[in-house]
Amino acid sequence: MSNATEKSIERFMKALRTRNPHQQQFHQAVHEVVCSTMPLYLDNRAWRDAAVLERMTEPDRILGFRVTWEADDGCLRVNRAWRVQFSHALGPYKGGLRFSPHVDTDVLKFLGFEQTLKNALTGLPMGGAKGGADVDPKTLSERELMRFCQSLMAELHRHIGPDTDVPAGDIGVGEREISWLFGQYLRLRNVWAGVLTGKHCSFGGSAGRSEATGHGCVYFLRQMLEHAGEGLEDKRIAVSGSGNVSLHAAGKALGQGARVVTLSDSDGFVHAPDGFSDEQLEAARALKLDRRGRIGELAEDDDGLEYHAGKKPWGVDCDVALPCATQNELDEEDAATLLDNGVVAVCEGANMPLTAGAAGRVREREVLYAPGKAANAGGVTVSGLEQSQNATRVSWSRDEVDTRLQEIMRDLHEKCVEHGSNGDRVDYVHGANRASFIKVADATLAYGAV
Ligand code: GLU
Repeated sequence: MSNATEKSIERFMKALRTRNPHQQQFHQAVHEVVCSTMPLYLDNRAWRDAAVLERMTEPDRILGFRVTWEADDGCLRVNRAWRVQFSHALGPYKGGLRFSPHVDTDVLKFLGFEQTLKNALTGLPMGGAKGGADVDPKTLSERELMRFCQSLMAELHRHIGPDTDVPAGDIGVGEREISWLFGQYLRLRNVWAGVLTGKHCSFGGSAGRSEATGHGCVYFLRQMLEHAGEGLEDKRIAVSGSGNVSLHAAGKALGQGARVVTLSDSDGFVHAPDGFSDEQLEAARALKLDRRGRIGELAEDDDGLEYHAGKKPWGVDCDVALPCATQNELDEEDAATLLDNGVVAVCEGANMPLTAGAAGRVREREVLYAPGKAANAGGVTVSGLEQSQNATRVSWSRDEVDTRLQEIMRDLHEKCVEHGSNGDRVDYVHGANRASFIKVADATLAYGAV
């Protein structure tokens, strides 16, 4: 990188930090993109004259509101909720809702920014947004959670619509919560519209939506390995997390002949040195998705599994790491351990799961590294397909959806190769950032002074 480029990045980041103080995750996400794209930006006078970079890093709007809800004991409780409508340059705002005590405008701005670029990569007409609330769903009863969703929608319904903004799930928001939100939207608006995705298949949801992020991630991993002359067969894969993304990624990896050696949650991880069997994965699915238990319970009656309380999975022997839990879950020390153990690929199922230090370490080495905005785009891809099905009042079969998902993940991989190749090496971070940036930047420029 030239001195002039470095100076421009520094100058831009300084101004961004001043405008957005204390929002470190947002700074981290933008910095990564700006490092990939500044050379292109400096070469493009029209983008610079139209302040395209400044516009792309400032959300269109941030809606913030109070959610008042009734607890089971009859007392009222209050939480904060937001919707960050980041950019609708390429289509209606699109992105998930997250329920977690860690949610704030920093987290949602980083996620909304990432989502805008991720959605651009899919080639589908979707803008980017993210929303959520600072609630810990683990501490609410089922009835409380339903009332919470209804109260949240009592405000959110004013700001969304199939041509405006289409939320979906994310951490803490699955098909059950989407159904409550959708039910409340119908009650308030009396309009059946594809205003949320991730709905149940019996009322407008797409076949394959819940599996899509995890399956898409493994499709991307396979493409990346094949491009490098390798395959998935017998690869030992360390997966973090045990939610929707992790479990479906694990299931798909197993189906492709790989061995999944770990699953985790915030309490610790479970290690299957020879790989989880189909039955063990099914037990994990029932435990985590149906009964909402803790991952350690999986090892209680199973001698083939070892539980490591309070630990992350990155110290085990593995060939591939699939961080699928949450942002910044894998730090520089974890990255060093993985590299010392000979990992050949890191593929992000979660959004920005590697700290900047960890990503730097991995990118220094000859290791395949797929950033989340490419590798986990399968979920929002099938959301986009759900929007198309809703708009035309049709429903496609599971096979049809899967074929389209595979095609889109393949195209997405090609775009990364096209924009990220340097000799015979592919820098997937540069590839994903550049391909998506060019698309959003050109649309932003074309719209004139808006
Ligand atoms: N929350 C998911 C993501 O991070 C899916 C968003 C959607 O389907 O709109 O991409």
